Amino acid sequence: MMSYKEMTKEELQEIRKEVAAKYDELKAKGLKLDMSRGKPNTEQLDISMGMIDTLTDYNLVGEQGVDCRNYGVLDGIIEAKRLLSAMIECPVDNIIIYGNSSLNVMYDTVARSMTHGVMGSTPWAKLDKVKFLCPVPGYDRHFAITEFFGIEMINIPMTEDGPDMDMVEDLVSKDEAIKGIWCVPKYSNPMGITYSDETVRRFANLKPAAEDFRIYWDNAYCIHHLYEDHQDHILEILEECEKAGNPDMVFKFCSTSKVTFPGSGIAAISASKANLDFIKKQMSVQTIGHDKLNQLRHARFFGDFNGMLEHMKKHADIIRPKFEAVLEMLDKELGDLGIAKWTKPNGGYFIGFDTMDGCAKKVVAMCKEAGVVMTPAGATYPYGKDPHDSNIRIAPTFPSTEELKQACEIFVTCVKLVSLDKILE
Ligand code: PLP
Repeated sequence: MMSYKEMTKEELQEIRKEVAAKYDELKAKGLKLDMSRGKPNTEQLDISMGMIDTLTDYNLVGEQGVDCRNYGVLDGIIEAKRLLSAMIECPVDNIIIYGNSSLNVMYDTVARSMTHGVMGSTPWAKLDKVKFLCPVPGYDRHFAITEFFGIEMINIPMTEDGPDMDMVEDLVSKDEAIKGIWCVPKYSNPMGITYSDETVRRFANLKPAAEDFRIYWDNAYCIHHLYEDHQDHILEILEECEKAGNPDMVFKFCSTSKVTFPGSGIAAISASKANLDFIKKQMSVQTIGHDKLNQLRHARFFGDFNGMLEHMKKHADIIRPKFEAVLEMLDKELGDLGIAKWTKPNGGYFIGFDTMDGCAKKVVAMCKEAGVVMTPAGATYPYGKDPHDSNIRIAPTFPSTEELKQACEIFVTCVKLVSLDKILE
């Protein structure tokens, strides 16, 4: 294959005719496919079904004598704390177990800062301006939270090692209005990027102008490897922050949404004791305690963290062929054309794809016309605005491998067509 950019206008026009004919042929099939949903498929959900049976012996008393049927235990039963602290890599004493969603915990964390500040600081709602740094492309629901509270979002470009740390260091040290940064440090949504050790250390050593600045470390994909032999690892940020003399600067979030059942898993926050004490004050007003039966169910199902890791291998076996099917198609059809770039992550739920500037919206629209739903272009940026109009999130986990191949055929055809039009403009 030759790069489109090396071809003559006549050659490109000839190829365009062929690609347009292919597009019409695929569109005529009237397919209905979806590569937008970052959620587990049914086969993945099935492997957790055993969890439903873990409480059928009616022994619902936890290890520390807690009757999990009744009120009590604000911050989670010890069994769940042990499991999730191993997952998120923190001491058992540095974790609070929440309910069914980590996004909910993140929302709460921002909402509490708006109304009550952070460990004694001025409530953000009383300030003229509050800003968040947003590594881009990133997770749309993070951006939705900060947008909802009227927090100004500043784009930080992602590199292969994580966010552009020169920019992060510079901005947080100068601007007291910057109160946080959204991070998905491992197998990021949507690029599948894992932060390098240097990036984590630079985060831990930040010197923010705002005393209530926090790193929102959403480790949603911490154990979600695709391969056994090449897995990404990150430095543990809580410990790094402590070493750097910034023990209170980070909130870590995680959940079992993509380990057991999304929406019916358990979530957690991990932070310094001072942060957790402050959070618990609010929590004790908000709830008498979260769902301990679900916590017990998770703990009994996995036994221990090794059980959880074994379980994640089953997930990997199910979704790896799907990632490979997409990557194979992208390599084969677009490999040398010089019109797109994409990531090959070792884990997580997404492949990040970049078209030539100014093409993503058109590609997504053409896919839709031909029956393939993609995540809306721009969704991976604050305010839905991708300044380059180039990023598209591919979510391979939910469709069957056969459906994925069909959807990818349409996708690559659209990428070719829109790129040809751009070059020929
Ligand atoms: N964080 C990231 C980075 C995600 O990609 C997702 C779901 O896609 C979530 C959080 C949602 O997690 P939860 O189901 O625990 O609310």
